Amino acid sequence: MAARLAEEWFAICGGCEVTILDIGEPLIDVLKQVEIVHMPVLMDHKLFGQTGEKTEMEIPEADVGLIAGGIRSDEHKKLALEMRKKCKILIALGSCATCGGIPALANQSTTDELMEKVYRDSVTTEKNGLPREQIPVLTDRVYAVSEVVKVDAFLPGCPTTPDMVAGALIALLEGKPLPALSTKSVCDECPTKREKKAVSTLKRRLEAPEFTLGAPLTEMRCLMEQGYMCLGPATRGGCGGHDGVPRCINAYMPCEGCFGPLSEKANPMVDMMGALSSIGLDPKQIPDRAATFNRFAGAGRLRPLPKR
Ligand code: SF4
Ligand code: SF4
Ligand code: SF4
Repeated sequence: MAARLAEEWFAICGGCEVTILDIGEPLIDVLKQVEIVHMPVLMDHKLFGQTGEKTEMEIPEADVGLIAGGIRSDEHKKLALEMRKKCKILIALGSCATCGGIPALANQSTTDELMEKVYRDSVTTEKNGLPREQIPVLTDRVYAVSEVVKVDAFLPGCPTTPDMVAGALIALLEGKPLPALSTKSVCDECPTKREKKAVSTLKRRLEAPEFTLGAPLTEMRCLMEQGYMCLGPATRGGCGGHDGVPRCINAYMPCEGCFGPLSEKANPMVDMMGALSSIGLDPKQIPDRAATFNRFAGAGRLRPLPKR
């Protein structure tokens, strides 16, 4: 009998749904063994019944539930609870669901400040009243899914990787335990050459790093030592493909931290300040450090900034 799969999306960009398609050929085999019972991006399953006859949102029962996106409204909260109730196994898909992701950068503003900025204070907006009726009420901040309901497995990354989604689905279909997250950092998996000293100033991303096209990455100098902000020291590893080389490093780009902190208790701010200082770079050169170092992990870590 096919396994029943439900998927929901909250505060997201949709990139993690595209990652499911990016699984490519193995997806054909997975789909043969799966019955998708709820997935707003693919099917028009009505939350309040096909004719709107129900008073509460309802999701069909499923063996596996995937949630992409953090929780930003009371509707997301109710749906997360409903997904938890109806799905035997619940998986957080991508960094938004795992630790807030990019939408949680908004946690540096209060909800009132955000509403004012978006609906009244923008130069392209007429200063009318704020929309309040017939729309879900925003929560006070963006929450990771696990801050609201119990989550059984996390697939971090912005977006998460097709290999991780396929690995998790295939393991579940075969009745095996879900693959564990890497306990290494991106730096641990990075093959670049380290000399333990850096140039004195941080460079803009627009400047190309030094590397020889086609030469092995072991011959390229560590990007942070070249003066680029690379969040590899404070970021969980595991994003690499079959060769295990971190995705961005493979493309000669510094790590932006999309797999989130090394552990739930880790403090990327402290880890990055230490890493930068250890090679002679002054962390004070980085404006907006809290947001930069917690770019994908703002749920529970970023707070509204004091008014200027
Ligand atoms: S984790 Fe990234 S790709 Fe996935 S939904 Fe969030 S913003 Fe989009
Ligand atoms: S700082 Fe970046 S480039 Fe340097 S070793 Fe770590 S991941 Fe690689
Ligand atoms: S190198 Fe860093 S930013 Fe790039 S995919 Fe891996 S964890 Fe994400």
